[in-house]
Amino acid sequence: MIDRFGRDIRYLRISVTDRCNLRCRYCMPDGIQTVSHDDILRYSELLRLVRLFAGLGIEHVRVTGGEPLVRRDVAGFIADIKQTPGIRTVSMTTNGTLLLPYGRALKEAGLDSVNISLDTTDEDLARKITGCSGVVQSVQEGIRLMRELDIPVKLNAVLLRETEKTLPALARFAEEGVPVRFIELMPMGYGREASGLPAGEALRILRSVYPDLRPSAARLGTGPAHYYESARLSAPIGLIDAVSHRFCESCNRVRLTSMGVLKPCLCFEEGVALGALLRSGADDEALRRATEDCIFQKPRQHCFDTPQNMTENKLMSQIGG
Ligand code: SAM
Ligand code: SF4
Repeated sequence: MIDRFGRDIRYLRISVTDRCNLRCRYCMPDGIQTVSHDDILRYSELLRLVRLFAGLGIEHVRVTGGEPLVRRDVAGFIADIKQTPGIRTVSMTTNGTLLLPYGRALKEAGLDSVNISLDTTDEDLARKITGCSGVVQSVQEGIRLMRELDIPVKLNAVLLRETEKTLPALARFAEEGVPVRFIELMPMGYGREASGLPAGEALRILRSVYPDLRPSAARLGTGPAHYYESARLSAPIGLIDAVSHRFCESCNRVRLTSMGVLKPCLCFEEGVALGALLRSGADDEALRRATEDCIFQKPRQHCFDTPQNMTENKLMSQIGG
């Protein structure tokens, strides 16, 4: 699907739940109300939309949440997406804490890769950020299992002021062959109340540890990261500077929330309620037209640098990151 600015939209993120087993302060702190189960799209409804999107050119699907592994039988859902003609890859973004129990089922389902979110390797800091203990250890065990199962892993860390001293320890994963991407905190939901670290400052910290860190031509997946390499790293380090730099001209993605709203841009609440349309009895042709209209209207660029212009008030846990 080509939008009005000529961008070819091939990548879909599906949030399968707004629920989560962690309570990251910048995303879904304690006390957040969750959506009723009835309002979350069933797998059969999501699969109908995936088939329709695949017919319109979507090739890559990322399953996210909330925490996708808290939804029952997400592996079965992934196996079904993998069977959809036109879909080439299915990946997942997870907090990694439930990979140990579900990793083997994900492998059997045919999951192509996994992005694991871990903001720090310091267990005390992780507890302060996520509200839960033992997170670092369970994520490390999950990473080990994914590597044993030969499922490619990337690590994603949101750049927070409070974790800046621990960035070098996270970067060490890249010495062991796991790409690490540092992501600027976006002013979405509770992210507005947290204190982020600009990507430029993170790069300075990383250069103090890897003085030969230099831009790399590496491209991992279809995302917006800029990668860096060093003789001491066996995988690249990426920076995703969504806020301080724009990469909108090459944006190839749309998002489906757990309630079935198709969102063309993270910043704006505009989208089309495909779930409601589908439940009102719309046929495939009507759903297709609504999808095409939504994608055609995809905004030229986000406005994280002028948060007062943002119209999206949903939480990241509802949208899926
Ligand atoms: N629970 C899963 C996880 O944590 O990976 C998937 C959903 S989570 C919303 C997806 C990603 O969004 C995570 O990497 C999380 O750190 C990131 N995220 C949440 N709020 C954010 C914010 N305000 N700015 C930047 N990234 C954010
Ligand atoms: Fe849960 Fe992921 Fe949000 Fe943390 S970032 S609260 S793990 S959805």
